[in-house]
Amino acid sequence: MHEDFRAELARLGLVALLILLFGMASGAWWLALLIGLGGYILWQLQQLWLFEEWLQGLKSNRPRLRGIWRHTADRISRIRSRARQRKKRLSRILHRFHDTLETMPDAAVILDDAFRIQWFNSAARSMLGLSPGSRDHGRRITGRLEAPELALWLDGDPTGQPLELSLPDPPQRELELRLAPFGKNQYLLTAHDITELKRIQRVRRDFIANVSHELRTPLTVVVGYLEMLAEEELPGEIRAALSASLRQAERMQHLVADLLMLSRLELEGDTQPRNEAVAVPALLRHLVEDAQRLCDSEHPHPVRLHLDEGLGLLGSETELASAFGNLLFNAILHTPAGTPIDLTWERHGAGARLVVADRGPGIAPEHLQRLTERFYRVDKSRSRERGGTGLGLSIVRHVLMRHDARIEIESEPGQGSCFRCLFPPARVVKL
Ligand code: ADP
Repeated sequence: MHEDFRAELARLGLVALLILLFGMASGAWWLALLIGLGGYILWQLQQLWLFEEWLQGLKSNRPRLRGIWRHTADRISRIRSRARQRKKRLSRILHRFHDTLETMPDAAVILDDAFRIQWFNSAARSMLGLSPGSRDHGRRITGRLEAPELALWLDGDPTGQPLELSLPDPPQRELELRLAPFGKNQYLLTAHDITELKRIQRVRRDFIANVSHELRTPLTVVVGYLEMLAEEELPGEIRAALSASLRQAERMQHLVADLLMLSRLELEGDTQPRNEAVAVPALLRHLVEDAQRLCDSEHPHPVRLHLDEGLGLLGSETELASAFGNLLFNAILHTPAGTPIDLTWERHGAGARLVVADRGPGIAPEHLQRLTERFYRVDKSRSRERGGTGLGLSIVRHVLMRHDARIEIESEPGQGSCFRCLFPPARVVKL
C-alpha cells in the first residue's frame, strides 16, 4: 500500500480514537461522533476544493495537499508531464513532415476520406492552382480541379494506378497523380509534372513515325527494282548478291511497317479503337492461309484450329489481325519446320481467349518478363536471320491494352510456348 494511503488511514484511525476518548470521557457519544466526523469531512472538502482549483489551472503553484489527494495529484502531474512530452515529440514530427512536403518539388495534398482538401504544400499552389488561406480548405478536390477523369479515377480504385491528367488552363500542363492512404482515413495526393517527359515522348514518337513514313516509298522502289532484276538471267555471284539485297530490303520494309504500326498505336494511346464486331474465326482462317505461305513448302507447320464459330470480339479488325498475326508468325518463325501449332479461340469464363501453342524450343524463364519490350529478342542474330523485327510482341501488347485485354506467356525450354490473349466479357459478341 502506498505511504499516502497509509497516512490517510492513520489519520482516520486518530479521528476514531479521539471520538472514542471524548465519548468515554463525556458520555455524549452523538456529540463526539458529530464533531469528529464533521471535522474530518470538512477537512476533506477543503482538500478537494484545493485539488479542484489546481486541476482547473486556477492556481499556478501546486497547493499543499495531503494524504490521498497528494497521491492523486502526483499521479496526475506525472501523466500531464508525459502527455506534454508526447505532444512536443508529435509536433516536432509533424513539423518535420510538413517541412519535407513543403520542400518537395511535387504537389502534395492531404485529403480526408471524402477527398476534401485538408492541407497542401506550396508546389500544390503553383501546380494545381490551390489558393492559400482558407478558400480551398474543406473543398472536394474534384470541385477545385474540374476534370471528369479525376472524378472517375477517385470513384474507382485510385490507390492502385496513377492517373495522367492534362490541365488545359495556361500554362498547359500534364500531371501524374498518385494517391496513397495515410493516417486515419486520410489520403496523400501527389502530383508530378510530366509535361517535359510527355513532350520528349511525343518528339521521339513523331520522329520515328516521320522517318518510317519517309523510308516507305524509297524502299518500295528499291524492292521493286530488285525483284525485277531477280527475274533476269544473271551470273551466279550477282544473283546471290541480288537475292541477299532483296531479303534485307524486305526485312527493312517489315521493320518500317512495324514501326509505323507501333507509332500509330502509341499516338492513339488511350483513345478507344474502332468498335466493330470482328468475326474472329474468319479472321484467324485468313491469317493461317497467309502464314502457310511463309512455311517451308516441304515441311509446312500443320496449324490445328479449334475455333468457337459463334464467338466474336468488339474492336478494331486491323489491330486484332496485326496482333493475332504476329503471334501466329512467331510460332512459325521461331519453331522448327514441320512442328504443329495449335490455334484455339474459345470462351474463357464470361470473356474470351485466343491461345497460340507451339512445340518449339521454348523460352527460358528469365526472358519471359521482357519479351514484350521493343526490340527485345532472346537470340538477336537468329531472329534477324528469320526476318524478325523484334517489335511483334510489343505491337501485340499495345493492341491488347487498347482492347482492355492482357497477354499471358507460358513457356518451358524444350517443351514449347503458349501465348494467351485474354479478353474481358465487355468485348465479347455473339456472331
Ligand atoms: P521477333 O520479330 O524477333 O519475333 P517479337 O517481339 O515478336 O520479335 O518476339 C520477341 C522474341 O520472343 C523473339 O525474338 C523470340 O526470341 C521470342 N519468341 C517469340 N515468340 C516465340 C515462340 N513462339 N517461340 C520461341 N520464341 C519466341
